[in-house]
Amino acid sequence: MSAVVEVRDLRKYYGEIKAVDGISFTVGRGEIFGMLGPNGAGKTTTVEIIEGLRRADSGQVTVLGLDVRRQPDAVKARIGVQLQTTALFPRLTVREVLNLFRSFFPQSREADELIAMVNLQEKANTLTKELSGGQRQRLSVALALVNQPEIIFLDEPTTGLDPQARRSLWEVIEQVRSAGATVFLTTHYMEEAERLCDRVAVIDHGRIIALDSPEALIRAHFQERAVEFEINGQQAASFSLEDLPAVTQVRQDGKTITLYTNDVEATLAALFERGQRTGFQVDALHVRRATLEDVFLKLTGRRIRD
Ligand code: ATP
Repeated sequence: MSAVVEVRDLRKYYGEIKAVDGISFTVGRGEIFGMLGPNGAGKTTTVEIIEGLRRADSGQVTVLGLDVRRQPDAVKARIGVQLQTTALFPRLTVREVLNLFRSFFPQSREADELIAMVNLQEKANTLTKELSGGQRQRLSVALALVNQPEIIFLDEPTTGLDPQARRSLWEVIEQVRSAGATVFLTTHYMEEAERLCDRVAVIDHGRIIALDSPEALIRAHFQERAVEFEINGQQAASFSLEDLPAVTQVRQDGKTITLYTNDVEATLAALFERGQRTGFQVDALHVRRATLEDVFLKLTGRRIRD
């Protein structure tokens, strides 16, 4: 796997705040690489340093073999950066905005090809101010693809979208990769990272606390299944479930209790038996495999949305 982005011991402090605190990683050609972390973890700072938009305090960043600090223009010509959708021209149509952006580059994709890549065929002649949130996001991805970039950077591309619009953008991102580009994205959605990314760097307080494929991260931290439920009839805090058979960990988040277990049947039987004996009912029960959310919780003791 040849590296298209190499980051070594990158640091950026804002006074007391260590926005990026010594991170290193590489991104391989053709990967969908994700940085996953809560608000303020340092994702945007990292991405903008790689794009050449901010200066690091120290460390090295190479993009496509070029030093971002010394050759920022050469880097910019070969990458695509998704703009915030507020920067779109409200009174231009989708096709007009694309053609405007195309005029900035000596070589560019055809407007129709871009429109097809992000599934906006039906909106080609619609003013951008009349697009839905999801359509605007797809247009901003198309704008990042105008110059046929080798790497495209998407900073929280689906924030604020409803689930359907989010899934539709995931399909677009997968198509972008199929068309040969490397995708670097940031997100604070676990499901997004799990579904889309070949590898994920989990970032917290400016540091990478884990980096691998979502599958490998989950496997490394959890062989167990998660049994999730709410209880009625007794204060959740007032009793312990740690001693139930096969349970390795218990987490409580508000009314929701999660048991991690190596033997779902044995744990459930004992849970119901204890409920009968001590007077609580189990509600909204479901069993699931562990997710990146569980991994983050285990690594940091917090949920990512805190
Ligand atoms: P979000 O999802 O909220 O954008 P993030 O993971 O992208 O979060 P950053 O925007 O990189 O995080 O911010 C990391 C930390 O650095 C935060 O504590 C933030 O307040 C701080 N920070 C970022 N930019 C600046 C700046 N220009 N001046 C001062 N502090 C900054």
